[in-house]
Amino acid sequence: MDTRKRREHLHQAAHAAPVGMAMRPRPAAATAVMPSWPQRLSFCAPGMQADSKGDCVSTLCASHAHPLVDQARNALLADYERRVQARFDDIVPTLKQIAALQHDTDFETRAQQIARDRLGFELPAVVLADAWVTTLDMRRLYGTSVLRTFLELAREAYTQPYNGAEAEAMTRFFIECGFHEVDVSACADGRLKGLLQYILRLPQQAVPRHKSYAGTLFDVELNVKQWAETELHRFREGVPTLPDAGTRYLKIAVYHFSSSDPLHEGCAAHGSDDRRAGQAALDRLEAFGTAIENGFCCGASVATLLIGVDTDNDAIRVHVPDAQGGMSLDCHVDNMALYQATVGKAESEALWRLGAIVEEAARRHGRSAPESGMRRLIERLLMNNLSQIEYVCTNHRGRYADIGHAERFISIGDGFDKVHLRNLAYIGHMHTVEEGAADLDVGIKIFSRLNVARGLPVPVAIHYRYDSQVPGGKERAEARCRRVKAAIEARYPVLMRDGLLVCGMTVQAKQPGSDLEIVADNDIDAHGH
Ligand SMILES: [Zn+2]
Ligand SMILES: [Zn+2]
Repeated sequence: MDTRKRREHLHQAAHAAPVGMAMRPRPAAATAVMPSWPQRLSFCAPGMQADSKGDCVSTLCASHAHPLVDQARNALLADYERRVQARFDDIVPTLKQIAALQHDTDFETRAQQIARDRLGFELPAVVLADAWVTTLDMRRLYGTSVLRTFLELAREAYTQPYNGAEAEAMTRFFIECGFHEVDVSACADGRLKGLLQYILRLPQQAVPRHKSYAGTLFDVELNVKQWAETELHRFREGVPTLPDAGTRYLKIAVYHFSSSDPLHEGCAAHGSDDRRAGQAALDRLEAFGTAIENGFCCGASVATLLIGVDTDNDAIRVHVPDAQGGMSLDCHVDNMALYQATVGKAESEALWRLGAIVEEAARRHGRSAPESGMRRLIERLLMNNLSQIEYVCTNHRGRYADIGHAERFISIGDGFDKVHLRNLAYIGHMHTVEEGAADLDVGIKIFSRLNVARGLPVPVAIHYRYDSQVPGGKERAEARCRRVKAAIEARYPVLMRDGLLVCGMTVQAKQPGSDLEIVADNDIDAHGH
């Protein structure tokens, strides 16, 4: 199912006609002459119902606001989402407009002008210049435009003033809860790309370590190394807490499922089986905990937490650890149920329900309650996610139209950690293609359905970060980009031959505020900026 096409169509319908093309005038007050049918049948999908305007809205949504929701933040996030999606949705109609001009005189000038006006950047000059001999290479133009649009978004995000106060407050809160570092690993599925910003509402600077792995199968050995790094900082510098502070490293693993189409739209890496997805993530968490306990003396231990996300509506379920930190798949708090139990209630009553729900879940399953710090953290995550549940109700009728995949491109390498939005990119963290081959193959499979089936290429953004204080770091990052690009192109020769694979490469210093630098031998036009 390709729900992105439908969304693009809706967006185009709302878009003004190109200059010189008349648009049919809107029939005046069409709704006023419609008779009202009191017994009107609902044509909404199962789980959806018609609201007062006749739109289908999830039956899980309430008609009034929830007392604990951050309305101001929701408005900001909605505005951002609309602006980003509109920029990607404009690419196809703009290229169609340009394609229609390709045999005109001064085509190149006019094409660049349209691109600048509508997309905000110029197209690769070589591709336009070649148009008179053969036909315009629309695949290449599409691929580079998607990558370029994203590059501009990432640049804007990196140049935004850094609001440190919010992140610092969250870091302090984590420490109060007993955690000196919170590290999140989620599935690489693009529907979780908005995990921090939208679903959990955590400032990304407060969660410096967040990576994605197909099926949430995070790298335990690497994680042990990262844990050791964090502990070394504490012992050498007392940052972020002193070694005797009694705080711990918290590892959160996030899996996902689909409530409306559980057998098809769940986690692809686990055959869309919720329990398998949850169990696999739980197994990794337990392996990580055991590795720390066995490998280091002096009672070293980490805290772990398992969270599931319903990608239809972004509601989370939090698996409640017992007093010893053990978790089970069955003992969890369902935040959608909490939302429904508290919407329309007074703020104090909603807070009281929130404050009781963690212990209630533990008791119902005959388990001990978690430590008070863990309980506080879970309550905060649930509260933050209530805002996201209402966000999806307000902006997406309670269930995303694209319940399935609708990613725009594949992101390979270190990822662009400033741009967080659902279904923006399929992410593969890898330093060599061999290492990430499984993730990459899943991504290419998804895009074969999304793009290749429509004749559109798969845009791949290759991005590595380097430490500008390390001599030669930038050159090595650039070399890595080229090596990974060559390996990807060699792995998918058929796509390559048909012009259905378009790679762009960028590197960026790790230091805050560093710009994205385009790597030459590149499908993105370096001079278009
Ligand atoms: Zn997944
Ligand atoms: Zn990120």
